[in-house]
Amino acid sequence: MDVYALPMTTRFRRITVREGLLLPGPAGWGEFCPFTEYDDAEAAAWLAAAREAAETGWPEPVRDRVPVNCTVPAIGPEHAQRIVRASGATTAKVKVADPGAAPGEDEERVAAVRDALGPGGRIRVDANAAWSYDEAVAAITSLERAAGGLEYVEQPCWEVEDLARVRRAVDVPVAADESIRRAEDPMRVVRAEAADVVVLKVSPLGGVRRALRIADECGLPVVVSSAVESSVGLAAGLALAGALPELPYACGLGTASLLTTDVVAADDRLVPAGGTLPVLRRAPEPVRAAEVAAPPERQQWWRARYERVAGLAVTG
Ligand SMILES: [Mg+2]
Repeated sequence: MDVYALPMTTRFRRITVREGLLLPGPAGWGEFCPFTEYDDAEAAAWLAAAREAAETGWPEPVRDRVPVNCTVPAIGPEHAQRIVRASGATTAKVKVADPGAAPGEDEERVAAVRDALGPGGRIRVDANAAWSYDEAVAAITSLERAAGGLEYVEQPCWEVEDLARVRRAVDVPVAADESIRRAEDPMRVVRAEAADVVVLKVSPLGGVRRALRIADECGLPVVVSSAVESSVGLAAGLALAGALPELPYACGLGTASLLTTDVVAADDRLVPAGGTLPVLRRAPEPVRAAEVAAPPERQQWWRARYERVAGLAVTG
């Protein structure tokens, strides 16, 4: 097992280095990379996803390429435009509601993104549950105006009840992300009529098959997103996007560009070309694991975490 540490190009989710552990198996490579603050119980689903990739492999895909959005972190407007223009994507996902942002910064960023995309592009914003109900309604209204239309707003509030109220109060569709992947019961958001779209991520949901079952139970359109994995983990997200019966939205799987380097060879990196990514049958080989190895104390930390979480799976 190799433990990697990949520096990020921009601070994202308040981290600057992405770490994880690579798991070999008969079906290929899996990636175990729960965010470091997650407890062992929450990390167990990430291990199940890594094991599915390594031991079982993924279901048959129904398409061989998927459209992806470009991701715009909480950065200034000129930098945002450079990212959008360089990506070739026609859909942009823009982070908003970053703690410490000055008033109007989010509006400036989405307006700049609209300039770069043109009127035919789609802009979605992600608040990562940062707003109260009142803040959400005010922010969505002003962001929609600044953006010249929003495709949807992702997780404006934390509580499912607040999501449902926001959904009733604004015209912009609401997507649920944290409400699905960090909830005991992902269906609660559906029963509460709190979302128009669900964001599904393979790692926190415990694998491609489990995510496909959730998609089926939800009966709502799905956006497949990454958890900012290396190209090994991204391949699992692409397997889900490739296997879904319908894929009406661009996926959030073009996140390799948030990392300065990767565990796979440069030619195998899952970096979008022309706004799409290929669906692979197995993850690319992590041939650069030694070059991007984490420092010894972090290797130890990850191996100990892996042992604890693997033990949980056995004892139930
Ligand atoms: Mg999100």
